[in-house]
Amino acid sequence: MSAPKKLYIKTYGCQMNVYDSERMAEAMGGAGYVETRDVSDADMILLNTCHIREKAAEKVYSELGRFRELKDARPDLKIGVAGCVAQAEGEEIMRRQPLVDLVVGPQSYHRLPEMEARLAKGEKALDTDFPEEDKFEALKARPKARRGPTAFLTVQEGCDKFCAFCVVPYTRGSEVSRPAGRILEEASGLVERGVREITLLGQNVNAYHGVGPKGGDWSLARLIWALSEVDGLERIRFTTSHPNDMSDDLIEAHANCAKLMPYLHLPVQSGSDRILKRMNRKHTAQSYLDVIGRIRAARPDILLSGDFIVGFPEETDADFEDTLRLIEAVGYGTAYSFKYSTRPGTPAANRAQVDPSVADERLQRLQALLTRQQREVQQSMVGREVSVLFEKPGRQPGQMVGKSEYLHAVHVVAPDIRPGDIARVRISESGANSLAGVLI
Ligand code: SF4
Repeated sequence: MSAPKKLYIKTYGCQMNVYDSERMAEAMGGAGYVETRDVSDADMILLNTCHIREKAAEKVYSELGRFRELKDARPDLKIGVAGCVAQAEGEEIMRRQPLVDLVVGPQSYHRLPEMEARLAKGEKALDTDFPEEDKFEALKARPKARRGPTAFLTVQEGCDKFCAFCVVPYTRGSEVSRPAGRILEEASGLVERGVREITLLGQNVNAYHGVGPKGGDWSLARLIWALSEVDGLERIRFTTSHPNDMSDDLIEAHANCAKLMPYLHLPVQSGSDRILKRMNRKHTAQSYLDVIGRIRAARPDILLSGDFIVGFPEETDADFEDTLRLIEAVGYGTAYSFKYSTRPGTPAANRAQVDPSVADERLQRLQALLTRQQREVQQSMVGREVSVLFEKPGRQPGQMVGKSEYLHAVHVVAPDIRPGDIARVRISESGANSLAGVLI
């Protein structure tokens, strides 16, 4: 029996790319590949790319250039590009970088084994279709290994919102929700492999509308309630949401579904109605704050997370002050913030840009405010009891690290605790990005 071939996957970008990389590794498992962490040991290299930031494509080309030596030393080495840059650039990648053998978009990676087979015949392989067949169905049969206590599970892909700065609708296509029955099946399979917490993924996950096992239209809330019936699945999370799709039943699930964790990532991007309009976000600062108010009324201890863009074209000082005011009003437990990044092909790309030094200064002020809020929320945990799902050993002897229900990293000296255990912890200390505690 020949030795298994080695696959090296490098993943950029969002949690959905992390999920996709796991699926690609499983797909290639069927073609006789096992994963390696050592690129020099690989028979095949796959870059699973992200297209969300400026120069994303250029970064991929410079990374590919670094494989020149490896390829010269081993001409049978196969090099592939997957993900959103593959979808956006397609054939252009092979034209610009001839050492690339394979380019596959996010909707076609279940076809990787047959594409790899074509390479063996000396051909190149390109597939950036939006195929009819369900890739998840094609991947279902693949053997699956034991895994850690947390997992991502894609339930929805694509987006129909067309925010003026975003490439996702172009690289991931329009919104598609997976059938609820398949998701429940995959979730049960994950629990059998040791998973206790699942994060449901979608570019616009709360717009989920999948067909139910017996027909009918299931919302995300209905799916969450059904998942909460899966034995052994203790925690459920979801990301990424749009404020306009925070439905009453989803907010009610936050109030009453014990397995739905009190953590919500709800991007807003700006606090200025003028800029929100120019971004085509289809909501106002006040409507966003109203949604936050309804969520907090339903689950007062919920930890809120947000996304912000500063320096969006035409943003004035007054617009930026509106954003700071909104952040003060919400009080975020954590948040992600970026300078606007021009994305080719998006409506905002050709508008008047904000001076980069102004954008830098605004980002610093915004991040200082967000860091202050994050520290205050973390400090407010000291003395409180939380429930921690332990994931791995910490750096100190006998130390274990996990996440609380608010998604805070928590470390505890607990030599008898194992990955996958869930235990009550009293928080004793708040650090820069994590908490310390003692088992109760
Ligand atoms: S809702 Fe999110 S994924 Fe959809 S277009 Fe807007 S930013 Fe992009």
